[in-house]
Amino acid sequence: MSEVVYSSLKKQFVGLDTQYPLATGKMQRRIYLDSGASSLMFRPAMKTVAAYLAHYANTHTTVHSSAKITSAAMAWANEMVLDFVNAPAPDYVCAFLGSGTTAAANRVAQGLAATRAGKEVVLVSSMEHHSNDLPHRHHSKIVEHIPLVGEGAHPGQVDLDALEGLLKRHAGKVNYIAVTGVSNVTGILNPLADMAQLAHAHGALMVVDGAQMVAHAPVDLAGCDIDFFIFSGHKVYAPGSPGVMVGRRELVEAMSPTQLGGGMVGAVSKWGYDLATSLEDREQAGTPNIPGTLALACVLSALAKLGMDEVFEREKVLAQWTLEQFSNIPGVTVYGDLAIERVGTIAFNIDGVGHGLVAAILNDYYGIAVRNECFCAHPYVQDMLKDSFSELAEQAVSLDNAAMEALFQVHRGMVRASFGLYTDQRDIEQLVAAVSDISQHADQYCQQYQALASGQYQHIEYNPVPEQLFDIEQTLNQFLR
Ligand code: PMP
Repeated sequence: MSEVVYSSLKKQFVGLDTQYPLATGKMQRRIYLDSGASSLMFRPAMKTVAAYLAHYANTHTTVHSSAKITSAAMAWANEMVLDFVNAPAPDYVCAFLGSGTTAAANRVAQGLAATRAGKEVVLVSSMEHHSNDLPHRHHSKIVEHIPLVGEGAHPGQVDLDALEGLLKRHAGKVNYIAVTGVSNVTGILNPLADMAQLAHAHGALMVVDGAQMVAHAPVDLAGCDIDFFIFSGHKVYAPGSPGVMVGRRELVEAMSPTQLGGGMVGAVSKWGYDLATSLEDREQAGTPNIPGTLALACVLSALAKLGMDEVFEREKVLAQWTLEQFSNIPGVTVYGDLAIERVGTIAFNIDGVGHGLVAAILNDYYGIAVRNECFCAHPYVQDMLKDSFSELAEQAVSLDNAAMEALFQVHRGMVRASFGLYTDQRDIEQLVAAVSDISQHADQYCQQYQALASGQYQHIEYNPVPEQLFDIEQTLNQFLR
């Protein structure tokens, strides 16, 4: 697909024309490079949901027309998700849970810990977001972290030999492997099919966190033999959408429900109740997030039409081009293995400049939205920063404890630029020019900022209160008139 098609697609996203004042006083269109946290709304999905709202009703009856329409649309959404991740309905079931991946990860961790007696070990990769690590630590007796290939600032994928070693060491005891499809820090993809094969050969299951994968790369549950796949609607151009759990039917069936109430039961008396026969219903107690679910399914339908293989190819090329541009800026370190393929997620630091200062300057002087700190993946980020910490330790020998802690605080993190379908070469050019400028003029910028105890930085003059930029109550009042 040509860049012309992508540039007209770009117009379909909400919020790319939003302007904010810069520290220089100039108004600037925002450059949104924080899609890894939440991606922008796909307008056709929003419009479809707005049209559907004329028929809005709850799902738990099919007596009146609106309820029938809603139930049919929700059934379509369910099918759409299963199709999108290639999880054929006879073998897999899909449930919409909570507000994101975290809810689904907790459900899977709790469900599998309770149903697979004697298998008390979970193997979690060393590049996980806390949401695909802590639920397993909480529900399982033993969690071991699977090493990655390579080390220092540039680790790669999960190390398959190390994984096999762990599976053999805990023979028969491994419940499942939990791994992210794509890292939220480095954009590196994991060898999911190979991992699943190893897991199954050793009697373990394969749980994949797809939060950073679903909008960026094709997903193939049946082809890769994945048992559970979890993701968030808000990371795939549908803000306000629920989390999703797609799991093998017989495994979901074996998990007893943890959320009880209306919708997930059949007959109820004072003495007992029957669970609903539909597994989808059993997993989704209460009223589902209908508009969010429909928005998500609309986006997935549009992405399927666009072709995820092409989306993936384009993003890999853009990511590679970004790495090349960054490699020309002296003093910039980009994290993760630079030689293997990745999607558009680039975490970096500029030598001697705190990540909080870089992120603040990008926002305040360039209108570029990025994220900084450790991206809820503390162990992974800290491992990549270890070498630079030993250099810092040398600098810190003459400092007292408070000054030493402040120095480490400033450097305990990275800056992350993450792409969406609407990200193009022009956005990256502006990021690269800004990073290059910051690396050359860090001292001058630094004088404009005050360091906060949190490690973040505050401009000494420019600090617009959010309500000056957008006042929600005032906006409501305009619509009420
Ligand atoms: N896993 C990964 C890889 C993520 O990037 C995120 C969100 N940053 C999550 C899980 C958690 O997703 P949510 O906030 O939607 O629960």
